[in-house]
Amino acid sequence: MDQSEDLPVRFEVLTLFPEMLEGFFKSSILGRAAAQGYIEINCTNIRDYTKNKHRKVDDTPYGGGYGMIMACQPVVDCIRAVKAKLPNGCDKEKTRVIYMSPQGKLFDQKKAHELKRYENLILLCGHYEGIDERIIELEVDEELSVGNYVLTGGELPAAIVVDAVSRLVDGVLPSPLCYEDESLQNGLLEHPQYTRPRVFEGLAVPEVLINGNHAMQEAWKKEQALKRTLEKRPDLLKDKT
Ligand code: SAM
Repeated sequence: MDQSEDLPVRFEVLTLFPEMLEGFFKSSILGRAAAQGYIEINCTNIRDYTKNKHRKVDDTPYGGGYGMIMACQPVVDCIRAVKAKLPNGCDKEKTRVIYMSPQGKLFDQKKAHELKRYENLILLCGHYEGIDERIIELEVDEELSVGNYVLTGGELPAAIVVDAVSRLVDGVLPSPLCYEDESLQNGLLEHPQYTRPRVFEGLAVPEVLINGNHAMQEAWKKEQALKRTLEKRPDLLKDKT
């Protein structure tokens, strides 16, 4: 899992609805990073791997219950086909298969750093009532949740993982300094930020930020970061002790 600094991270998103994601991946910072070769993002339609006449990907659950379950055959075949076309796709050290699931471990900034070290991240998006358990047993290395709520599909969670990991990849942001001071990076929230004008609707930018004294400004930022973490997310400080 020791990726060289220069290699792009390749994201392979497996979904029944690639059109939900393609616009997002082509836009803004991610779109530019992909165009410049810092990351690679591909979406594969799981439905292309069905073997039945009606291209059906789901079926009713054994034992009864509401909704439809994504079936083993198309999903397993899709994962294996994507792995097979990737350089190092079958190397567990370089390729990680992640199922986006409300049952997974909560995704956070620490996990984003950990994932950035893989060459290939295969993100499996469930839909409907989820996927057949045997897919997880056979092909999934890890399950990740984006929060304690249930969404209709794994597409938004996969987009969150792609976004959070990408901005840690060398070259995607202008400098690592862009994320080193950021909220959650060091277990603290970021200090308040301001831009022009100096006064807006009677609210002035704190004097210390315009006095030109760099040392004072740094001290103020540290103090504010601590203060607002205590106010807004005291749980983060508890984690630090
Ligand atoms: N029946 C499943 C259960 O209770 O665990 C939930 C299925 S959910 C309606 C459909 C799909 O959305 C899941 O297969 C998963 O891929 C995705 N999903 C929903 N909530 C998620 C979350 N919080 N984090 C990651 N993926 C989620």
